[in-house]
Amino acid sequence: MEKIIKRWYDMIRINSVNGHEVNLADYIAKELRAMNLEPHYSYFPEDRTEKARPSVWTVLDSGKPGKTVMLIGHIDTVDVANGWNTDPFVPTEDGDKVHGLGAMDMKGGLAAILETLEYYTRHTDAFTGTIEACFVSDEEGLSKGTYQLVEEGITADYAIMAECRYDNVAIGFRGRYSFEVTVHGVAAHASHYPAVGENALISGGRLAAAIEALPTLTHPNLKHGTWCVRHMEGGNKGTLVVPEVCNIFVDRYVVPGEDEKTCIQQILDAARALGLEEKVEVRLKPRNSPYMQSFALEPDDDLVTTLQCAFKEVTGEELPVEYDPSVCDSNILAVSLGIPTVTFGPSGGGMHAANEYGHAWQVKNCAEVYRRTVAELLK
Ligand SMILES: [Zn+2]
Repeated sequence: MEKIIKRWYDMIRINSVNGHEVNLADYIAKELRAMNLEPHYSYFPEDRTEKARPSVWTVLDSGKPGKTVMLIGHIDTVDVANGWNTDPFVPTEDGDKVHGLGAMDMKGGLAAILETLEYYTRHTDAFTGTIEACFVSDEEGLSKGTYQLVEEGITADYAIMAECRYDNVAIGFRGRYSFEVTVHGVAAHASHYPAVGENALISGGRLAAAIEALPTLTHPNLKHGTWCVRHMEGGNKGTLVVPEVCNIFVDRYVVPGEDEKTCIQQILDAARALGLEEKVEVRLKPRNSPYMQSFALEPDDDLVTTLQCAFKEVTGEELPVEYDPSVCDSNILAVSLGIPTVTFGPSGGGMHAANEYGHAWQVKNCAEVYRRTVAELLK
C-alpha cells in the first residue's frame, strides 16, 4: 500500500473526535520525527493541565532565504453519528469510496500534507524559504487550536487549508457573530394590565421582526449577510406578572465591511425606530475565542492562480474559484493574521453524517497539487 494511503487509513483508525485529539497528535508527531522534522506541541489555555487536545506543528527550512508556505488542517472530527453501516474507525473500501469517520473531513487532507512534507524533506534543494505544517485541534468546536497558534505568533506568506473541497478552491468566506439582546418592560400585576405595566415580550417580538428585516451589505461573490433570530425567552407562566424582560438571541452572517460594531449599531437603530432606545441592550455573546470575520481574496491572486495551474497540470481539468457562505479556520488565518489563504483538499461525501467517505485518488491528486503549488510559490 502506498504510504500516503497507509497514513490516511492509520489516521481513520485513530479516534480523534473533538475533545480527544491527543492520540492523533502523537501519531503525526511520530511521522514527523521519522522524517527528521521536529514536532512542536501547542496547548490552548483550557487544556494546559490535562494535555489531551494538542495541536502539532513543524517547520521545514530549505536553508535558503525566501517565503513561507503554510499547509494546515484540523486533526479533530465530529462525533460518531447514528446510522453507520460499518465501523467508523475501520477504513472500509467500497468501489472507489473509503468509508470511515474523518475519511472526508479531513484525514485525507492531513495525509496529503504529510506526503508533501516528506517529499520536500528529501528535496530541500527544490525550494527556497520554509514550509510550515500545522495540524490543529478543535476546528469542529471553537477553533481553539488555531487561535492558540495565532497567540504563539505563527505566520506565513501563503496558507493552503487542506479542508475537504475538491471541485473548487474557496477564496472567500462569510464571517459570523452571535448577539444577545435584552429588552426591558415594566412588571405589574397582570390584573391591572394594560393600564399599568409594559410587556417586554411584545416589545421583544416587535424588535425581533425588525431585526430580521434589517438590511445587510452585499458583496459581488459572497452575496450578502443574513440575520436570524434563533431564540427568544421571557415571562413566567407561574405568576401573574406582566413580563419584565425578553431575551433574544440573534445569529448574524456577515460579508466584508460588516463587523460586530456595525451589527450592534443596526440593532440599536432598529430599537430607536420602535421607540425602544432606552429599553434595549445589545452585546456580542461572550465566548472564549474571537468571532470569525469575513474575507475574500481576488481571483487573480498569485496563490489562487498557482494552485489552479497545479490542479490543471495534475488532473487536466479547470479548478473554479468559489466563495463559501459559512466560516472555517481559513477566516482566522486570513483575517487575524492577514495571510492569503486558499481552501482546497480531498473531499468525498457524508460529511458530519453516517457513512462518511473519501476517495484515494483525490487524496493522491491533492498531495501532487500541493507539491507543485509549493514548488512554484517557493521557487
Ligand atoms: Zn473540516
